[in-house]
Amino acid sequence: MISVSEALDHLFALAAPMPSEQVPLLQAAGRILTEDAVSTRDQPPFAASAMDGYAVIGAQAHPGARFTVIGEAAAGHRFNGVLSSGQAVRIFTGAPLPEGADRVVIQEDVTRDGDQIVLGDQLDTGPHIRPAAGDFRIGSRLSAPRRLSPEDIALLASMNVPRVTVSRQPSVALISTGDELVMPGEAPGPDQIIASNTFGLHALLRNLGAAPRLLPVARDTVSSLSTTLDLAADADLIVTIGGASVGDHDLVAKVTAERGMERAFYKVAMRPGKPLMAGRLGRAMMLGLPGNPVSAMVCGHVFLAPVIRAMIGLPSRPAPRTSAPLAQAIAANGPREHYMRARLTHEGIAPFDAQDSSLLNVLSQANALLVRPPHDGPREAGEMVEYIALGS
Ligand code: AMP
Ligand code: MG
Repeated sequence: MISVSEALDHLFALAAPMPSEQVPLLQAAGRILTEDAVSTRDQPPFAASAMDGYAVIGAQAHPGARFTVIGEAAAGHRFNGVLSSGQAVRIFTGAPLPEGADRVVIQEDVTRDGDQIVLGDQLDTGPHIRPAAGDFRIGSRLSAPRRLSPEDIALLASMNVPRVTVSRQPSVALISTGDELVMPGEAPGPDQIIASNTFGLHALLRNLGAAPRLLPVARDTVSSLSTTLDLAADADLIVTIGGASVGDHDLVAKVTAERGMERAFYKVAMRPGKPLMAGRLGRAMMLGLPGNPVSAMVCGHVFLAPVIRAMIGLPSRPAPRTSAPLAQAIAANGPREHYMRARLTHEGIAPFDAQDSSLLNVLSQANALLVRPPHDGPREAGEMVEYIALGS
């Protein structure tokens, strides 16, 4: 058995980075930028008014001062002239500042009578001008690698970058194995249950930015598993679920070996999730996850998510961990790293009592996986522990 971090090292060695592609901005959110995006513009391209009011020469803007209004500047329509002493231009937010002006007096501080304005007794300080290129300049960069947020998309649009270079989404084939499984919505026989893991992992993969695909359930026969693996042959990553132990009906290791899989490792010292295998199968990377629903999802967070991040061009790192104080004392851990379903509140983090790896209801209530290192001693309430955040 190898440790979780040794297993991750093997996985990162197996995970081939995806090639890049260009996508239009409207399809770029959540994707990983793989080439710097460079602005072709200054923003704003001119000094602009930040308020509705009157553009004047700042040195003349004293309480009670008078100006003659000589024209108007609106967003998209500059004033074509030069402002001189004693003159003002009516101006609106976003309009280019007229030549000669260096301050905008807000309209609340002004009384207007025809083409004359008088400033009030108490002026706000201004100058209410957005300097040219105050946001970004030609040549400003959004640097790769980076997962593009909605805010990034707005910035890129403003930079006049209509297409960006991002990593291709890895196609991931998800294969459930087992005679007992039917799909949600089908009518299960008396000895059957509903396939759940592939659905949870599909959702996880979509959130990560992969392109998951659910294949038909492989039955516990060599021919069924082989046929399903054939259907997955064009994937970048094949993920099998279940059939990974050493029971009579656990065929994944046998069938993948017959198909030439070079197996990198088989068992990992962790709870839940011990039977885990990985290797190369044809052109694809293959990851065999345990079948127990919670084990599969925990392995999804601990192994699959870092693999996907590495494939799409983010740094090869374990799932990010944060610290929180324990809300209650916990007993010593055994020899395997333990990922405990836990609830994080403002009082701290507390594991659920029930930790059986078949209990999805408890996993759904959990918002964190509390990580216990191997052989960690008993811990008191208030001691800091590490966790992996679930959901958001
Ligand atoms: P296995 O590793 O095939 O022995 O499966 C371990 C346990 O997980 C068994 O109780 C299976 O019924 C269950 N299981 C396996 N695959 C799935 C799945 N895709 N969805 C829900 N339960 C599963
Ligand atoms: Mg099975």
